[in-house]
Amino acid sequence: TKYVYFFGSGKAEGTAQMKELLGGKGANLADMTSIGLPVPPGFTISTEACAYYSSHEGAYPQGLREQVLENLAKLETLMGAKLGDNENPLLVSVRSGAAQSMPGMMDTILNLGLNPTSVKALIAKTNNERFAWDSYRRFMQMFGDVVMGVPHHEFESALQDVKDSKGKSLDTELDSKDLQEVIARYQRLYKRYTGEEFPVDPIDQLFKSINAVFKSWNNERANKYRQMNDIRGLLGTAVNIQSMVFGNMGDTSGTGVAFTRDPSTGENQFYGEYLMNAQGEDVVAGIRTPEPIETLRAVNADVYDQLVGIRSILEKHYKDMQDIEFTIQEGKLYMLQTRNGKRTIFSWLRSQVEMVEEGLIDKETAIARVPAGEFGKLFAPILDAKYIRDNGLNEVTRGLNASPGGACGQIYFTADKAEEMAALGKDVILVRAETSPEDIGGMAVAKGVVTCRGGMTSHAAVVARGMGCPCVSGAGDIHINEAKKTLEVNGTNLSEGDYMSIDGFTGAVYGTKIPVRSSEIVQVLNGHMKESESNLFYNYKTFMAYVQEVKRLGVYTNADTPHDTEMAVAFGAEGIGLCRTEHMFFGGNRIMSIRKMILANNLIAREKALSELLPMQRGDFEAIFLALEGRPATIRLLDPPLHEFLPNDHTSRHELALQMGLTVEEVAQKSSALHEFNPMLGFRGCRLAIIYPEILRMQVRAIIEAAINVKRKGVDVLPEIMIPLVGNYKEFVFCKKHALEVIEKIFNEQGMKVHYKIGTMIEVPRAAITADEIAREAEFFSFGTNDLTQMTCGFSRDDAASFLGPYVNDTDKQFYDYDPFATIDIDGVGKLVDMAAKLGRSTNPEIKLGICGEHGGDPKTIAFCDKVGLDYVSCSPFRVPIARLAAAQASI
Ligand code: PEP
Ligand code: MG
Repeated sequence: TKYVYFFGSGKAEGTAQMKELLGGKGANLADMTSIGLPVPPGFTISTEACAYYSSHEGAYPQGLREQVLENLAKLETLMGAKLGDNENPLLVSVRSGAAQSMPGMMDTILNLGLNPTSVKALIAKTNNERFAWDSYRRFMQMFGDVVMGVPHHEFESALQDVKDSKGKSLDTELDSKDLQEVIARYQRLYKRYTGEEFPVDPIDQLFKSINAVFKSWNNERANKYRQMNDIRGLLGTAVNIQSMVFGNMGDTSGTGVAFTRDPSTGENQFYGEYLMNAQGEDVVAGIRTPEPIETLRAVNADVYDQLVGIRSILEKHYKDMQDIEFTIQEGKLYMLQTRNGKRTIFSWLRSQVEMVEEGLIDKETAIARVPAGEFGKLFAPILDAKYIRDNGLNEVTRGLNASPGGACGQIYFTADKAEEMAALGKDVILVRAETSPEDIGGMAVAKGVVTCRGGMTSHAAVVARGMGCPCVSGAGDIHINEAKKTLEVNGTNLSEGDYMSIDGFTGAVYGTKIPVRSSEIVQVLNGHMKESESNLFYNYKTFMAYVQEVKRLGVYTNADTPHDTEMAVAFGAEGIGLCRTEHMFFGGNRIMSIRKMILANNLIAREKALSELLPMQRGDFEAIFLALEGRPATIRLLDPPLHEFLPNDHTSRHELALQMGLTVEEVAQKSSALHEFNPMLGFRGCRLAIIYPEILRMQVRAIIEAAINVKRKGVDVLPEIMIPLVGNYKEFVFCKKHALEVIEKIFNEQGMKVHYKIGTMIEVPRAAITADEIAREAEFFSFGTNDLTQMTCGFSRDDAASFLGPYVNDTDKQFYDYDPFATIDIDGVGKLVDMAAKLGRSTNPEIKLGICGEHGGDPKTIAFCDKVGLDYVSCSPFRVPIARLAAAQASI
């Protein structure tokens, strides 16, 4: 088997298509080499080798070692240099790179090949003593830390000790004598921790480093990152071994990271940062704050122009925004990486819309790329600008606008503390000098993140953007006192627990509490902002027009109030898929009326209580029909067990007894008579309508009378009456008979008719199994996947959390890929849905099919619904745009 792929001087064995095997970095290094960009030569070890290593306790597959040595020899010949040579030493980097990028999660070793003899040769060759010793020092530090697990801070404090003893404050002030002292300390440190001498044999260094990269695939933070980002099914990481170029050879050298468009806003402008006389990790680790890319023109115009040229070559070649890493070695530019750039959802939206408008990509491509899981963040809150103006608030400092969104919360200085306070329900702003990958847990729970050091491409910035967490980075005026748990910023002092507000769109930081408001899109939709004032709204509207053109599935909403309905319609909902009428029974007099109905001892008393509810329900339905303007409204008849409406504390029972002329005992008795051990499997759904048809009759009357009233006003209506929890077609027939009687009667009374449908939910497994029988009678099915999941898996909707977490997340379990209440369990519940859809259509080809469980807003479930051919999905109003996008993606 071939495990190693060479690239160099215009030729490469790999291609851009080989990401699974070579990782994203390796595949694109090969590709950039082939299209003639300046890439330092090297070779890539495949992910298959890593997979073998992981599953064979660190053993190599046959031939791997030999292939590495052969390719190394080839590289040495091409470079005219040899690893560890005492005249012309070759230095290499060893980097990880999986098929999907996982920034900062796995390991990298630079300057490999240095030892006491080759460092002398490097001095002679470069005539730069300081550079050579500094490279050696960096190599020892990375190798010791990454390969052998010597704590990073030990190296840092050894370095600090030397600086202190020389009275120097910057790394760059250390001369080669000082650096040799650092190296001597590093050697002792290494020996103390590992019990071995620091390896001098470069081949030994190389294989140890390759193993470390293989191993890092399964380190804790990489696993956590994959879990959080739903990265599955990859073999492992590839390992890229590439000849070194140096950004730290003096003031004509440097290194940088750039994006072909703005990763925060998506604006079509070259966007990046660099540092002269530095190596890559200085930029990425956020240790020094880099310079904006435009200033490179003044430093080296040729290199700047060349980069600008490469920017456009890469965008045309990959047809997407690229994230590149480059190094300048003594005035010459080298490309070290290109990949599709990670970006905010704002940047996704704008870049894709503009690329369609530029003719670079088609609409389908744009739709397929924009991450549906992130789409909801477009509607994320922002800091209330009016409040800031009205109160004359000034920012205490401004850092970089690393990840958009407004956030306000109480400040904490460590990830652990942030997690602890967030668990107590506090809004947390995590403030750190710089973040490291270990902070990821704290960042995940924080409302916002602030760092004092680091640029737009620092770890904090990249991770925060990925999580949609507002972030301000590089706020250098903030000085944290970790011990005292305080910070000082331009004269303002804040302590742990004090409020801070941040604006991730601008980088502004406020040392006070500021209300957070709705997004521009929401404001335009609500009429609080003019459409022409919002570029974001333009991009949103344009993109949603593509989505509408491409998608097949309808997208409805779950709404029970006119306000929610209007919001959902503004978001593009094509109807209501579920109006839960019981939600209309709470509040004010209504709850009294329904309680009277429940406590009634005979039909007459029950009908009297119901007649009080009728006008209220009718009014609600009228408002909803008006908001829908002729779109279909699926209205579900009463579903929950009746005792949910009765009070269970003594005071309320007392009050109720008083109002109804009963004794407290009578109320308590009725309540306990209604008590059930398994209410979710109890007296609910259509069972209520079957025992008390007068409830159904009142609700149907309210729906149809409301429809007629609205139609009289000249607005179209399309009510769809939905019977819940049917398990046997005879239940459905019983309910339908009552409904039809009422409807006929109203049509006669009113001398007017409206179109309507009568259908059922499919949420009891028996209903799915006998869907052909039900479909002979029903005009539509709506899959209630909340109950269907509960009853199919036998997991209580209300109590499953205690074991479902481990069922999904623990690496030794993972019985379900995703929480089955969030993403449909395709193999189980999904099979029932598919079967019921087919059975239903077999006896009623016209039947309308939808889904209205929570799953209806989940992109993976939506893809499934498209596949099995449902007509629509229904979800909560704020998920409507996400569902529309997911529906469009499913149909591509
Ligand atoms: C369902 O069961 O999926 C459903 C939509 O109904 P409810 O959540 O109201 O039980
Ligand atoms: Mg249900």
